[in-house]
Amino acid sequence: MRPARALIDLDALRHNYQLARTVSGAKALAVVKADAYGHGAVRCAKALEAEVEGFAVACIEEALELRDAAIGKPILLLEGFFEAEELALIDQHDLWCVVHSMWQIEAIERARLARPLTVWLKLDSGMHRVGLHPADYQAAYRRLQASGKVGKIVLMSHFARADELDCERSAEQVAVFEQARAGLEGEVSLRNSPAVLGWPQLVPQQQPSDWVRPGIMLYGATPFEQEQALAARLQPVMTLESKIIGVRELPAGEPIGYGARFITERPTRVGVVAMGYADGYPRHAPTGTPVLIDGQPSRLIGRVSMDMLTVDLTDLPQAGLGSRVELWGKNVLASDVAALAGTIPYQLFCNLRRVPLVYSGA
Ligand SMILES: *Cc1c(COP(=O)(O)O)cnc(C)c1O
Repeated sequence: MRPARALIDLDALRHNYQLARTVSGAKALAVVKADAYGHGAVRCAKALEAEVEGFAVACIEEALELRDAAIGKPILLLEGFFEAEELALIDQHDLWCVVHSMWQIEAIERARLARPLTVWLKLDSGMHRVGLHPADYQAAYRRLQASGKVGKIVLMSHFARADELDCERSAEQVAVFEQARAGLEGEVSLRNSPAVLGWPQLVPQQQPSDWVRPGIMLYGATPFEQEQALAARLQPVMTLESKIIGVRELPAGEPIGYGARFITERPTRVGVVAMGYADGYPRHAPTGTPVLIDGQPSRLIGRVSMDMLTVDLTDLPQAGLGSRVELWGKNVLASDVAALAGTIPYQLFCNLRRVPLVYSGA
C-alpha cells in the first residue's frame, strides 16, 4: 500500500478549540467548512461535539453532511442560502443562517417556516465582499424583526486584515460595526482566528454571550506570518507523512527531476518520497523546503512531481528505504511550508486529496 497518509490528532483539535474559548472568553462556533479544512468534517465535528456551542459551514450541502451523521448541535451557514428554496431545508434541519443581502430578507419574508429562524445578520464593515451596507443595517434588522419569521438575530461582521498585527484596519472595522449596530439588541460575532489570537483588546464590550468563529486555529496552524505568542500555543492537528521509496547516489553536477531544476552541488544521496502535488503537496515548494526524515531535519530538492518528490539524504546516513518522512505536522509547520510555496496553510490543508486520513484521539 502506498505509504502516504495524513494523521489527524483529535486531541490537538480539542486543545485548540479550548484555547479559542479561553483566550476569547466567548462562545465559539467551530468552523468546519471545506471538510474541516481538509481534516474530515464529520470526524472533527464528532470529536468536538460534546464541548462546542455549534459549528459553521459554507453551505447547506456541508451542513446536511453533518446532520446526516447525527450531529445535532447548531450549525451556521456562513453564506446563508444561495436560493430561496433552501429555506425549507434550513427550517427542517434547524440550521442557523447568515443573511448578507436584501434579497435574502425578502425571501425570508415570503417563506413559510415551521419555526423561528435564527439569523446572523452580516454587516459589511469594510471587507467589501458580502454583508449589508452600514446605512442599510438597521432597516434590515427591523425588517427581519417585523417579518414574524425570525427568532434570534446575531450581529456579525468579518475582518479583512486581522492577520496583520500592525494594521489599523481591524479597529476601523470595529468602529464601523459599533456605529451601524448602535441600539440594536443582539449577541455579537466578529472574530475569526487571527482576531481571536491577535486582537484581544479589539472588542472592548465583548460579552460572554458573544461568539467567536475560529477556523484555521482549530487545526493548529498560525494565521500570522510572524511569530505570535498565543499562536505558539496551538497544536498542529494534521501530520502529512509518507516514506522513502527509492534511494540513489549521484555525483556532483547531476540534475534531479523534471526541468533539471536542481543540479547536485556535491556527491548527493537522494531519497524519493511517495508524495506529490496530486496529494496536495504544493508544487511550488522550492528546493530547501524543510522535511523531517526519521526525526532528522532535511530538505526538499528539485521539482515536486505528481506522485513523488525528492529529498536530500546526504547528511542522514541512517536514513534509507522505508524511512518515515514528515512533510508537515508537529515538527515541520504547515505555515512554514506554505510561506515558502507562496501560499497559506489554509490552502495546503484544503488541497489535500488522495491520502487517507488516519485519526487518533477519541
Ligand atoms: C472561514 C470563516 C471563518 C474562519 O476563519 P479563520 O481565519 O479560518 O479562523 C470565520 N468567519 C467567516 C465568516 C468565515 O467565512
